Amino acid sequence: MIKQDFIPKLNRNRPGYPMEPQGLLIHSTNNWKKSADAEMHAKYLKSGQNHVAGWHVTVDAEQAIQHIPFNENAWHAGDGSQGHYNRNWIGMETCTNLVTRNQKLDDPTYQNAVKTAAEIVKMFHFTRDQVQPHNVVKGKNCPWDKHFDRDQFREDVFKLVEGTPILSEPTATIRQAQEWAKGRGATRTFIDIAQLYWSIDPKSGVNPAIAYAQSAKETGFGRFGGVIDETYKNPCGMKTTSGGGNYDPEAHQRFKSWEEGITAHCDHLALYAGAEGYPKSDPPDPRHFSWIFGKAKTVEQLSGRWAPSETYGQSILEDYLKPLEQMEVDIMSRFSDLSDDRWSASAIEKVAEQGLMVGYNDGTFKPTEPVTREELAVILTRLKGGN
Ligand SMILES: [Zn+2]
Repeated sequence: MIKQDFIPKLNRNRPGYPMEPQGLLIHSTNNWKKSADAEMHAKYLKSGQNHVAGWHVTVDAEQAIQHIPFNENAWHAGDGSQGHYNRNWIGMETCTNLVTRNQKLDDPTYQNAVKTAAEIVKMFHFTRDQVQPHNVVKGKNCPWDKHFDRDQFREDVFKLVEGTPILSEPTATIRQAQEWAKGRGATRTFIDIAQLYWSIDPKSGVNPAIAYAQSAKETGFGRFGGVIDETYKNPCGMKTTSGGGNYDPEAHQRFKSWEEGITAHCDHLALYAGAEGYPKSDPPDPRHFSWIFGKAKTVEQLSGRWAPSETYGQSILEDYLKPLEQMEVDIMSRFSDLSDDRWSASAIEKVAEQGLMVGYNDGTFKPTEPVTREELAVILTRLKGGN
């Protein structure tokens, strides 16, 4: 929500040339005084009739205030009275009052700036090219380079605008997922089924980290505790074809194996996301209805669709997926029985990274055990790119 508190029309810093916004120019105030928040800048802009410089929006840690309507120009870009940016672009100032000149910008202000910029981008359907740092005009150090990475800022804005796609490369490794689950008190079964997610989901283009995060939410990290238990092998609260109430165990699907349950979960997500080759002709997914095809391409759009809650998708992202993706694991401890000073450690790390040899479900590699002919056949098949 951007609060409006406009500069009086008589002020010189509200020039009033009509404008159809062609982009959003990002600034930082570079005023490092504690009191220099959005409110103070709004007062300053309204005060003197002879201030010339002005801009459209100021963002601080708590709010965003708009000083000039978006269909009027402002003198914020320093490219002259006929300047392309001065006459066509919206100017947004980011307050730097909570940091010093050498610090990274504080998170609340940064997040609010990203959110406000995303709001403006959505309003005018701007593309990436239409969001630029003031720096593009004569190389000015604005936004201040110590405060944040300007390209990352643009990426963060568009992440909010576009949402988190369900179909993508994996955004985390199995090892990250398992360490994260362990830290959250997951059951042994839930930790083990991460392997299945990472082997099944990528074949349909589904990001396994998203599916696993959703499963953590739906099953309470495998602890269940609702009307169904682990014996249903149902990782995602999947109902039967005829469906029914959340508190009716009979309304929930029982799967023959975890592999089948996780395939059904994957198929259902892939169908929602509009994946190629969907709907499937005979899937284990009991609710593979063709009319949901392409109805939720992002995690955000699962809200009100996969579950009635309006914050369902947001909760998967904030409470589960983000911490999973941010999990830091020591790659050399991928296997519990492999120390990094072992002569073969880096070779084992490589074959594991490429998925040629994945180790055992208990997290070990057993580096000195012999390989059977059938295991070798699996490895050779993977090497040739099959499944
Ligand atoms: Zn600037």
